[in-house]
This record gives sequence, C-alpha cells and structure tokens, in this order.
Amino acid sequence: MTHICDDFAYGNGPRAACFWNGTANSPARMPANGQIHADVAIIGAGFTGLSAALRLSKAGYKVVVLDSRSVGWGASGRNGGFCCIGGAKASDTQLRRMVGPQAARDYRLAERDAVYFTQDLIAQHGFDVDAQFGGETVLAHRQKDYEAFHDEAQSLSELYDVDVSVIPPDDLGKHGMSGPFYGAMNIPIGFGLNPRKYVLQLATAAESAGARIFESSGVRSIEKVGHNWKLCTPNAQIESPKVVVATNGYSSETVPKWMAGRYLPTQSSVIVTRPLSPEELAEQGWSTHQLAYDTRNLLHYFRLLPNGRFLFGMRGGLSTTSKTHDAVQSLIRQDFETMFPKWAHVETPWYWTGFVCLSRNLTPFAGPIPEHAGMYAGFGYHGNGVAMGSYSGALVADQIMGDTGLRLPKVMQIPPRKFPFGQKRRALMYPAYVAYNFKDR
Ligand SMILES: Cc1cc2nc3c(=O)[nH]c(=O)nc-3n(C[C@H](O)[C@H](O)[C@H](O)COP(=O)(O)OP(=O)(O)OC[C@H]3O[C@@H](n4cnc5c(N)ncnc54)[C@H](O)[C@@H]3O)c2cc1C
Repeated sequence: MTHICDDFAYGNGPRAACFWNGTANSPARMPANGQIHADVAIIGAGFTGLSAALRLSKAGYKVVVLDSRSVGWGASGRNGGFCCIGGAKASDTQLRRMVGPQAARDYRLAERDAVYFTQDLIAQHGFDVDAQFGGETVLAHRQKDYEAFHDEAQSLSELYDVDVSVIPPDDLGKHGMSGPFYGAMNIPIGFGLNPRKYVLQLATAAESAGARIFESSGVRSIEKVGHNWKLCTPNAQIESPKVVVATNGYSSETVPKWMAGRYLPTQSSVIVTRPLSPEELAEQGWSTHQLAYDTRNLLHYFRLLPNGRFLFGMRGGLSTTSKTHDAVQSLIRQDFETMFPKWAHVETPWYWTGFVCLSRNLTPFAGPIPEHAGMYAGFGYHGNGVAMGSYSGALVADQIMGDTGLRLPKVMQIPPRKFPFGQKRRALMYPAYVAYNFKDR
C-alpha cells in the first residue's frame, strides 16, 4: 500500500486520546485467513463499508468486510458525531455549472435524504447512539453572514420543506448560545450521536444479517482473475466478482491503483472538556445541545455532549507528523478559549485528529469505478460523512443489486478527477488555507 502522508497519521497516535474510545467496547475480530469466496468484498469497516455490508447482507448477498485495523478505526469511530446535511464542498453555483439546476437541486436533496436515511437506519435497528435532536445551527462570525441568513433561510425552507429560522443576535442568549456571534440560523434537520457506538452497532447488525467482518486484514493488492477480483491480505486471498472500496481519507495510491490522485486526505481535530457544571454552563451562556458551527470556511464545530462535556473541533495542520499533531493541540485550545473565554480554566483531557477526504470535484462519489467491471467506490464527503457515508454505502449496495429505491443524484455518479501534483498533492492545501483565511476575515 502506498500512502501519501506520514506513517504517524496511519498509526494509533492521532486517536490515542479520543474521547469516544472509552464509551463503547468492541470485541476483537479475527484476521481473514486462507481462501475466501464472497459475492461482495468490501474494503474498509467505517460507515460507508458497513452500511453497504448491512444492506447487501440483508438482501442475501454473501459479504466479506476487510479492515486494516478494526471496525470504526478510521474517521467513523473518531468524528464529531454531527449527523447533518453535507457531503460536498462545491457551492450551489459550482454544482449548477457541473450538472445543471435540476440535478444540482437533486444533489442537495440527497444531502437531506442522507440524514433521514441514517436516522431511520438507527431507529429501525434500535441502535443506542446517545442521539441528541434539534437540528443544526450556523453561527455568523461576521455581520454580513448574519444578513445573508435571511435569504438563505427562505431558500432552504423551500428546498428542504422545513421551517428554517433566523435567530437575531439579541436572542442568542435565550437560545443558550451566547458567544462572539452576530446571529444564527437553525435548520431543523440533523442530530448528534456517539459515532463509536453507531459504527460498532452497524457492524453488529451487518454480522447479524450474515456479513463476515475481518480485522487486521489490510488489502495489499487487487487483481482481476477471470470474472473475479482477487484481494490479498497478509494471510488470505479473497475472490469475489464485486468489490467496494470504502477507504475514504485512509485510502492508498495502490488499492486499487485507480484511487491514485483522486482523494485528498486532510485532518480534522477535536478536543473534549471534562464535564462542565451547570454554573459553568450558565457563566458562558451555552446550554443548547444543537449541532453548532460558525460561518468560516475553515470552520469551528462544537456541541454539548449528553454528560455535560463540550466537544470543539476544527481543521488540522498542514503536515501529518507527530510534531504537527502536538502543535495543533495548542491552536485548537487557543481558538476554544477565544470563543468560549469563560471556560479558559476548563481542562480538555481529550484531543485527537483524523482524516477527512476531499475530491477534486468537491463532491462525493458513490458508484462504479470506470473500466473496473464489478468494482465500486464511495468516498469524498468533505468532513460530512456520518450521514453521507452511511447513505453512500447504501447507494453503492443498491447499484450492485440493480435497485433504485434511493435518490441517486447525478453529481455522485461523476468519478472524481485526479488532483495535480500526484503524491505531493497535499501541497495544494497551503494556498487553499491562506485563501480561506483571507476570505474568513
Ligand atoms: C476528527 C474528525 C471529525 C469529524 N466530524 C464529523 C462530523 O461531526 N460529522 C460528519 O458528518 N463527519 C465528520 N467527519 C467525517 C466522517 O467521520 C467521515 O467522512 C466518515 O467517517 C467516513 O467514513 P468511511 O467509512 O468512508 O471511512 P473511514 O471511517 O475513514 O474508514 C475507512 C477504513 O478503511 C480502512 N482501510 C484503508 N485502507 C485499507 C486497506 N487497504 N485494506 C483494508 N482496510 C483499509 C481503514 O482502516 C478505515 O477503518 C469527521 C472526521 C474526522 C477525522
């Protein structure tokens, strides 16, 4: 496997102090061993791979899931738990230019459908994920962003068929969201969850439906043998006519070679506080459990967890070394204290980072890999893969089964182009971050 970032990023260092680690136990699963035959072999045991596995297994397919590490080891077990609208970084104008107005709208509706799909999946299976409902709230970090909310709220209300509301600055306190903000907009779609609990229960449900999940089973090569694909792990050869690549930000340039240059892993970083007392919450004026984020391009995202702890996240560093990992911890702490000054004394014992995945088109992909008959992929959620990863897995499963039950937008069927600069493509992040910083002023 050829990775494009430092080894540190693919090890346990970045996730060692992840708050979610201690919230749910997972049984260790055996590595794949010997000769294995399957109808579908899935690479990656995160939301995408497991959602596909569950849907296919329930339909009677013989499914094998392989993960280099363990269930939820990637971004799925260490994210912010925002099950919200999103998946593309492309603007509406870019989407319209790409596919025209109708298909652009269809994609935006798929982002909404992804949240409802995930909510239904959780409810149907009775997963206990510590869900917190109330939708998502965008907080304006500038006056002009607040002014734009009024038109935006109207068009989002029409698009999603819900009541999107604008909260004036003077009312933020009443809503339990005091801070350096110029007003807010609430979209009543989405909910918070414990991502580790969700991904582990997704795995158990897929196993109950018949899927076999193997851990410590990194796929090192894929080649076509007759009508089948042959996947090699350290101790097994898996033959299957269909393969799903569900490796997102943890993808490599070689599994399969088609992925080379088509994904850009960038880090997201999170800290979590110790439990805050009711007095501390009151002092800062933050008591809402809504999913919240600011209007910056390089945004901050935050939410109050069920036990009174506060989760605060933002982008990661420009490099993926252990030194940068440590440096980002100070930066995130600084931003947390600036935004929530009354909590400057509050300890944040948990800090971790992980890979999100960008695509050159700035849109997610869920479909067949061109010129690789029987091979599919789902990736590129731009930091919003709780709902969109779950949905993409289901979309890929449906395409394998020839089913069209879910909305499959044209945008997500366009295979991502390659980024320039090959394996050095993370260099593109530097000018992008400078430009975003400038725009965010
Ligand atoms: C810190 C952080 C915060 C985030 N917050 C949010 C949020 O609040 N809301 C939201 O919607 N999204 C969030 N995201 C993004 C979201 O977590 C991801 O988009 C989503 O988890 C992607 O799921 P996935 O299954 O596609 O990939 P992953 O969960 O990353 O899984 C990929 C798996 O592939 C495995 N793998 C890779 N190569 C191989 C191989 N060759 N063989 C076998 N296995 C392999 C890896 O071990 C890994 O387990 C966040 C991400 C991070 C890192």
